[in-house]
Amino acid sequence: MQKTITHPHPAWIEIDIQQFKKNLQLIHDFVAPALVCIAVKADAYGHGLLLISKAAVEAGVDYLAVSCLQEGAMLRKAGIAIPILVLGAIHEDQIKELVEYQLEITIASLYKAKLVASHCAALAKKCRVHLEIDTGMQRTGVRATSALELYSYLQSQDCFEVAGVYSHFAIGDLPNQPFAYQQIADFKAISEQLPTMLRHMANSGGVCYYKESHFDLVRIGLLAYGYFPGELPPALAGIKPFFSLKSKISYFKVVAAGKGVSYGHTYVTRQQTRIVTIPVGYGDGYRRALSNKGNVLIRAQRFPIAGTVCMDQFMVDVGNSEAYVGDEVTLIGQQGDASVSLMEVAAWCDTIPNEILCLFSPRIPRVYKE
Ligand SMILES: *Cc1c(COP(=O)(O)O)cnc(C)c1O
Repeated sequence: MQKTITHPHPAWIEIDIQQFKKNLQLIHDFVAPALVCIAVKADAYGHGLLLISKAAVEAGVDYLAVSCLQEGAMLRKAGIAIPILVLGAIHEDQIKELVEYQLEITIASLYKAKLVASHCAALAKKCRVHLEIDTGMQRTGVRATSALELYSYLQSQDCFEVAGVYSHFAIGDLPNQPFAYQQIADFKAISEQLPTMLRHMANSGGVCYYKESHFDLVRIGLLAYGYFPGELPPALAGIKPFFSLKSKISYFKVVAAGKGVSYGHTYVTRQQTRIVTIPVGYGDGYRRALSNKGNVLIRAQRFPIAGTVCMDQFMVDVGNSEAYVGDEVTLIGQQGDASVSLMEVAAWCDTIPNEILCLFSPRIPRVYKE
């Protein structure tokens, strides 16, 4: 199913919404009766905040999670009405808007709780909050020893509805980790003393590897987008990525043997060869670390990146193969039977797939296929 793409940028990201919805259905069935919260922070892991959130709502997810006010406000302005949890620590300047947009706030200190309460009083509004407990990440969240005191304070204030209590894994992305089991046990012990609607802990790793961390709701990011760094449970085997990065060859030239290609001449042709130019670069979020490492697909065949990736372009050595200006190039995704996965791209860049996804520039249009 190839459709003609016309837009002002020479590269585009294709998003297959049907596959996203399939992933959500599999996750829903796997964790039921726990509710599902999808993390749509960082522009829905680069997939596009609004369309992904709308699709998630259509698919019946119970919650969305964002990192900050700005993301939550965008969703409310777009008419998204389901509960939205703001995961990040809040800033005093933002409390008024957080409350007005009916975003659910993470409370991780008595100090911030009191600030929120005073804003709620001034606005004559109520606010749903989640108490965050740190069980070993040393990021945000109160220590278990202070959780009861903070919880009592929240309960004592009319303006608060304590919607949830949660914690976050430090080492949940690997199976059988004693520290992860310790975190679950600590969270279970403390949260049992805090009657609330929703206890939640599991991210993608927790969902796949630690069934006992599912509690009442799971917060899923990476897995919903089709990626998981380990082995999926058999019931989730149908989960697939649905993000492809594509472009078209913008230039073609025959280059003699012994010529340096791109900045610094880090690539030198061994024999006469054909070099094509792709109009995508690190300014688009296609990492410079891919220089002389990455591969792309042209006419369903893999070819290596030749030389350094520039800000807006890079070169590929296609050898003696046929490839011309206007041919479609797949940087991430499938072409015929060939594929270059995001996992490979992340490995070439010595990082995790999440980081690669977050770095694609908004100047690359996201094209949604239903
Ligand atoms: C981002 C985030 C998640 C989702 O994490 P994944 O590993 O992508 O599933 C869950 N909980 C919190 C607190 C997060 O910040």
